[in-house]
Amino acid sequence: MNNNELETLIRSIVREKLEPARRENATAALFDDVERAITAAHTAFLAYQQCPLKTRNAVIAAIRHELVPHLQVLAERGAQETGMGRVEDKLLKNRVALEKTPGVEDLVTEAITGDEGMVLFEYSPFGVIGSVAPSTNPTETIINNCISMLAAGNTIFFSPHPGAKNVSLWLIEQIEAIVFTACGIHNLVTCLREPSFESTQHMMKHPLIALLAITGGPGIVNMALKSGKKTIGAGAGNPPSLVDETAVLDKAAQDIVSGASFDYNLPCTAEKSLIVVESVADALLAEMQKCGALIVSGDGNIDKLRNVAIIDGHANKALVGKSPLALLQAAGLPAPDKAPRLLLVEVGADDLLVSVEQLMPILPVVRVPDFDSGLRLALKVEGGLHHTATMHSQNVSRLNKAARLLQTSIFVKNGPSYAGIGVGAEGFATFTIATPTGEGTTSARTFARHRRCVLSNAFSIR
Ligand code: NAD
Repeated sequence: MNNNELETLIRSIVREKLEPARRENATAALFDDVERAITAAHTAFLAYQQCPLKTRNAVIAAIRHELVPHLQVLAERGAQETGMGRVEDKLLKNRVALEKTPGVEDLVTEAITGDEGMVLFEYSPFGVIGSVAPSTNPTETIINNCISMLAAGNTIFFSPHPGAKNVSLWLIEQIEAIVFTACGIHNLVTCLREPSFESTQHMMKHPLIALLAITGGPGIVNMALKSGKKTIGAGAGNPPSLVDETAVLDKAAQDIVSGASFDYNLPCTAEKSLIVVESVADALLAEMQKCGALIVSGDGNIDKLRNVAIIDGHANKALVGKSPLALLQAAGLPAPDKAPRLLLVEVGADDLLVSVEQLMPILPVVRVPDFDSGLRLALKVEGGLHHTATMHSQNVSRLNKAARLLQTSIFVKNGPSYAGIGVGAEGFATFTIATPTGEGTTSARTFARHRRCVLSNAFSIR
């Protein structure tokens, strides 16, 4: 049987069994207390650990196939429940997570052989992973983490954001039914019916949790790092976009407007400031206006926008992920006839709009005299978060210099920021970019223990 025939067989078995299993298993995966949920996930792990790799492949294939009809609903419900982001972009993010998150094939075995025998390096599961998902990518993160973590042989206790509870629980129930049908084991994914900050804190200390995977802001990532458990921390970013005088300006403008307006700037990877060399600044801004950006000018107007966007030095949560029109309205500014895709404001390098991660489609623009001063500012704005930066230039030496100095987990050259998470670009999809802990763009192998298996004096057959 070839791979296509195998996939068709798996799909037909899944279809045949799925509906009855969904009915039987309507409440599995969801629990009332942390203890029961984690114990159930651990029992599931002990059973899953005994399964061959073809079972894991079947689980991943079933998730990929069976969630497709739900993608639109997930995007709509995610935007509606959180009150953040754009449905079309959420649909794309969920689709990319489903299609482009690597499965079991990511666990590549390495071997060393010689006169004294053989050594294998293999990726094996940790056990139960405590996965914390953000409100900004609620279902995208769950899909992405599910595929990566289950492919690596783990089971999962999810802590969704309470603000995205309903859509997250609904998705987890769907995945439970799909996965159970594919492998016959309940509770590979678990969650609480009422997820809360307290339950997340309890989970972080639970002895049966082998690994924490935390996607969120600095508060929750730092809390996990203090827990004493191994933590994969995917934290906040503040990605600068640097444009020098050699850039192809119409392409740079299109890329920056597309990236910074994507899902109303909710992705942690999205361009959060634009640093442009003075000699091309006017031309770049003119091109960006052609792409749907609106320049908000005049000190009074910029002050009004800043005052509603940032409160006490932090992004105003009530406006995170809102549309440009909603932001103009909140600031009491007039709305143009055509809805803008992005708001541009020219500010100084020390402006709060530059230094605070807003997660709103307001892009502060700072002019610099030359590339070197732009790079210095980009380093300051990124703030050592090791997250994401983008740059538009035709000068390879400068691109190389920026890549080396910025040390970001994702560095996109001459493209929109979302190219760095696999949207419209080469490379796998990820929604957990481990920045403070250094794993970078995560996939199945990130959620696996790297083990060394030695055989003395045999199996070198060269
Ligand atoms: P958040 O920090 O408010 O919440 C993230 C998660 O942590 C949620 O599940 C929430 O319930 C939980 N949490 C927060 N405070 C808690 C507490 N005191 N006790 C227990 N649990 C707590 O973040 P958010 O607003 O949902 O997401 C946006 C942030 O996440 C941004 O800073 C963004 O940059 C970051 N982010 C990072 C990545 C990445 O891959 N690096 C991806 C997406 C989002």
